Amino acid sequence: MGHVRNYTIADVIARYKMMQGFNVLHPIGYDAFGQPAENAAIKNKTDPAQWTYRCITQMHDELKKMGFSYDWGRELSTCDAEYYKWNQWIFIKMFERGLAYKRASSVNWCPDCETTLANEEVINGLCWRCKTAVVQKELEQWYLKITQYAPSLLEDLKKLEQWPSRVRTMQENWIGKSYGLEIHFKIKDMAETISVFTTRPDTIFGATYVVLAPEHPLVIKLAAGTPQEKDTLGFIERTANKSKSLRMSGDQRKEGVFIGRHAVNPVNNESIPVYIGDYVLMEYGTGAIMAVPTHDQRDFEFAKHHKLPMRIVIKDPKDPLVSVDGMDQAYEGEGVLVNSGDFDKIPNEEAKSKIAEWMQLKGFGRVSIHWRLRDWLISRQRYWGTPIPMVYCEACGVVPVPYHQLPVELPKDVEITGEGGSPLGRVRSFVECACPKCGKPARRETDTMATFFDSSWYFLRFCSAHNTQEIFDKADAKYWMPVDQYIGGIEHAILHLLYARFFTKFLKDLGLVTIDEPFVRLLTQGMVLKDNEVMSKSRGNTVDPDEVLSQYGADALRLFILFAAPPEDQLEWNSDGLEGAWRFLNRVYQMVEKRYCVIARSEATKQSFKQDDPDATLERERNNAIKRVTQSFEEGYKFNTAISDMMVLANAIDKYKIDPGESAKQRLLNQAIETLVLLLAPFVPHVAEEMWQMMGKVEPTISRVAWPGFDENALKMSIITIAVQVNGRVRAQIQVTPDMPQEELRKICLADPNVAKYVQESAIKKFIVVPNKLVSIVA
Ligand SMILES: [Zn+2]
Ligand SMILES: [Zn+2]
Repeated sequence: MGHVRNYTIADVIARYKMMQGFNVLHPIGYDAFGQPAENAAIKNKTDPAQWTYRCITQMHDELKKMGFSYDWGRELSTCDAEYYKWNQWIFIKMFERGLAYKRASSVNWCPDCETTLANEEVINGLCWRCKTAVVQKELEQWYLKITQYAPSLLEDLKKLEQWPSRVRTMQENWIGKSYGLEIHFKIKDMAETISVFTTRPDTIFGATYVVLAPEHPLVIKLAAGTPQEKDTLGFIERTANKSKSLRMSGDQRKEGVFIGRHAVNPVNNESIPVYIGDYVLMEYGTGAIMAVPTHDQRDFEFAKHHKLPMRIVIKDPKDPLVSVDGMDQAYEGEGVLVNSGDFDKIPNEEAKSKIAEWMQLKGFGRVSIHWRLRDWLISRQRYWGTPIPMVYCEACGVVPVPYHQLPVELPKDVEITGEGGSPLGRVRSFVECACPKCGKPARRETDTMATFFDSSWYFLRFCSAHNTQEIFDKADAKYWMPVDQYIGGIEHAILHLLYARFFTKFLKDLGLVTIDEPFVRLLTQGMVLKDNEVMSKSRGNTVDPDEVLSQYGADALRLFILFAAPPEDQLEWNSDGLEGAWRFLNRVYQMVEKRYCVIARSEATKQSFKQDDPDATLERERNNAIKRVTQSFEEGYKFNTAISDMMVLANAIDKYKIDPGESAKQRLLNQAIETLVLLLAPFVPHVAEEMWQMMGKVEPTISRVAWPGFDENALKMSIITIAVQVNGRVRAQIQVTPDMPQEELRKICLADPNVAKYVQESAIKKFIVVPNKLVSIVA
């Protein structure tokens, strides 16, 4: 139902734009590789390909039943070699530019899925898919250098004005640009300098020691010849056996040793001891930190344990008299600076940039930029994905598969157990190959790509979906791109939506597209709930679209979904609502059947109405419905209000009575019914089409009939009653047309005998109008 909702929203927009005369590309495809299919295949003891293609056939049929206006000629599936060939092509292009690379490091590993995960796929320490706790593993893996695009990914968020601000903020935080300071600490009695990176230059006067990662390249040199040399070497060896995740975990006691040297804090020339500690990793910053125990909890614990000095440099406004002795934990909040030389009394947030600039000027440090975004780990130890097109040769090293040999096809009939590493590794006919460079025996890469790779560029493939020569035709892409309207859940905010932006920028650099951003406007649709919980198979609260289709038909389902809530909001499933949508459609159908009546064209009638007669009222309601439904589309897709406006028009039609043979009136009635059917067409295409034919229309399909326009004058053809006050007391009720200009209103008021009785024109001091409600005269 979640999918049905997403696709229904998209379809209504596509059909509306088609009726407005736009050339609309409304495509569909299947993001078909990945673990769910592989796991289902293992569970059902079938081949993932068979399983997937069966699901696709079923899905295809269901989509057709829903009446979605897809261009079926562009239907594609990411597990087709015709498609994933181009994944491999992009990968090699990235490899050639140094954007795809392999490196050994500590990676996120889901023990349940038996595969690695990207940082974006770890949510609160758990696997995004199966919610198992993620562990760290030392592995050699393929990465994409998304970090190279961090500046433009951040900067171009400004261009995405038509994205929900929530999504932009999430991406901004994830990319995480921060300004920091690299501070140079000279080593006492040596020529060496240690650079530390800090985002807290405001605490520099409180730095009372320095800690290096045990792997830091300077450590052995610094400790050499000191009485602490032996302890230092022993500690390095012990730490080497500890996993990085253990070293980083919060509850682990911070271990470390003094290495026999002192550094000089440049801001106050204080000698402070140099330690190595297991909680500092070489991968972060410069592999060295300045420790400010009073304002950093990890430093505080380390300092307490090693009995190191502390100094408060930010005053806690809630506890201004506290001393170092009275502290039982670090104060990490905000406050004004103390013990900080010329910077005392400055709020610490303000002091950050002030001290950083001052230190840079003095040559004590260098302002630097730090990013939270990490490179994207994309190799997966699973079968059902795109083979990474790389070959390992003893003589030549890592060699990409030549373009003309693509695709590297995923072999069929592979035994998949879900255990024991990459299934492709056990397929000799796949692994063994000739080196593309030297021709000697070589081995293929057996990992496959994360499926987010597949979905990072698929929208471009829709522009020329079955092009066998190129990834897509440049001219086609130029014509269609960027995507005008994108619809997807908020869960994609920092995954798919970030990756797709990255790929677009890369393909622009390759000269394949001219756009900076793939999606102009983004709508994040709300979830579908039942009994206040998200519909899901595991909760057992799903509604099967097929059952609804056979009972009520696609149109009633579509109408219910669109009427029940605005697209961005959560939608609570409600069978009464579905029933109501079905009844409304029946009512309109009967209207067409019983009241619409084809009349001869020659009987022209004049279209002039008295303001308050039923003809004028019907015309007003008809034009009003067009105006309001059109506005609902243009002002944020408020389909629920659009549908209630159509219901208002249906009521007006029901109220409009005519006698047989009144052809002028019949013409008006016909026009109102036609309008209602046209407005309904994007929402309920099947029954709208049928009603259009019933009305004897000659156009081959209603979906190509022009969207109706409205007449502002017709909207004014109504009479409203407003009260007239004189000096605060109501003296009359007058009948006027809406939004009447003030001078006209004034004349009508003064012409009213009851008003004239209380006020003369010459005595009016103030004439106040509350539009369409009230006139207040002060005399
Ligand atoms: Zn998992
Ligand atoms: Zn070779």
